[in-house]
Amino acid sequence: MIKRFLGIFSQDIGIDLGTANTLVYVGGKGIVLNEPSVVAINQKTKQILAIGEEAKAMVGRTPSYIVAIRPLADGVISDFEVTEQMLKYFIRKTQIGRFSFTPRPRIVVGVPYGVTEVERRAVEEAAVNAGAREVYLIEEPLAAAIGARMPVQEASGNMIVDIGGGTTEVAVISLGGVVASRSLRIAGDEMNEDIVDFARSQFNLSLGLKTAEEIKIAIGSALEQDEKLTYPMRGRDLVSGLPKEIIVDDEVVRKAISKSVKVVIDAVRATIEEAPPELVADIIGRGIILAGGGALLRGLDQLLSRETQTKVHVADDPLSCVARGTGIVIEDLDNLRDVLLASTLSS
Ligand code: ADP
Ligand code: MG
Repeated sequence: MIKRFLGIFSQDIGIDLGTANTLVYVGGKGIVLNEPSVVAINQKTKQILAIGEEAKAMVGRTPSYIVAIRPLADGVISDFEVTEQMLKYFIRKTQIGRFSFTPRPRIVVGVPYGVTEVERRAVEEAAVNAGAREVYLIEEPLAAAIGARMPVQEASGNMIVDIGGGTTEVAVISLGGVVASRSLRIAGDEMNEDIVDFARSQFNLSLGLKTAEEIKIAIGSALEQDEKLTYPMRGRDLVSGLPKEIIVDDEVVRKAISKSVKVVIDAVRATIEEAPPELVADIIGRGIILAGGGALLRGLDQLLSRETQTKVHVADDPLSCVARGTGIVIEDLDNLRDVLLASTLSS
């Protein structure tokens, strides 16, 4: 009874703690925050200078003792303390204007598939320290599938491929659990690095990572498209040391990122091979769903479809799939409890 009463007034929240971006969903409102998972730190004093958008703007533009850390860059929590500060900051930011008599929120956090118990505990404690009344964790592939409105609780195969910044997670889900999966440290960020490497080796051009990402988003593709695209590549000439600009086209970018794209496709094929045949039959009927920012790479759906002989669909707004999934869970906790990870706090 008291729980129900609290529920009316509290604003429960769902969080996608991504390697590249953190999104916060507030129950009854939707996504209210979407910022880079970046923290700027003064290494001399160990002080946190900025978090999120503000910190990302500093990347590559700070004196050497100020470093921009992405505490989740590889899908694991490399720095607990910084992660906790970041999580607190984002949660508090969404609670501004909340009345002081409203109960503390219940929080669902999406975490990468296969995080260790120590990492799970760290996230739970961080959420509690940031003001959560109750914390629940959900594996990101499940949250993404729920966000894409896949019937994950049914006894049938659902295949989701979530290509984020630091990690790609491939999962076949049935009855609320992951049946077969692959987790790669190769995703969108690796493609940015591919472009930097390619510019260096092919054009003697030193390129920043942010510029590489811009080029990838502007003209990148996994498969040749009808429209030819071009974009300026700006950096420093490695020979003369001076600024240099060359115009590149989509084919250059496609070549640069092709190896990483292939790794992702091979992982999807390997996961299908590992899945029980009944579930594979369901996947053929339903198609593979692509989520995460990497799903927006032009022609990736077509290439993956060709290479797996299976229909492929890009989820609606793939960048917010996980956050919407956590939102659906927090708004319907009673029915979706079985998709959550067991808590490490009560034990
Ligand atoms: P995470 O869940 O790990 O935080 P996201 O799902 O937010 O990651 O995706 C971030 C990645 O998606 C980045 O590597 C970014 O470069 C990439 N990305 C975003 N938009 C596009 C686009 N239009 N085309 C290709 N890649 C994109
Ligand atoms: Mg993600």
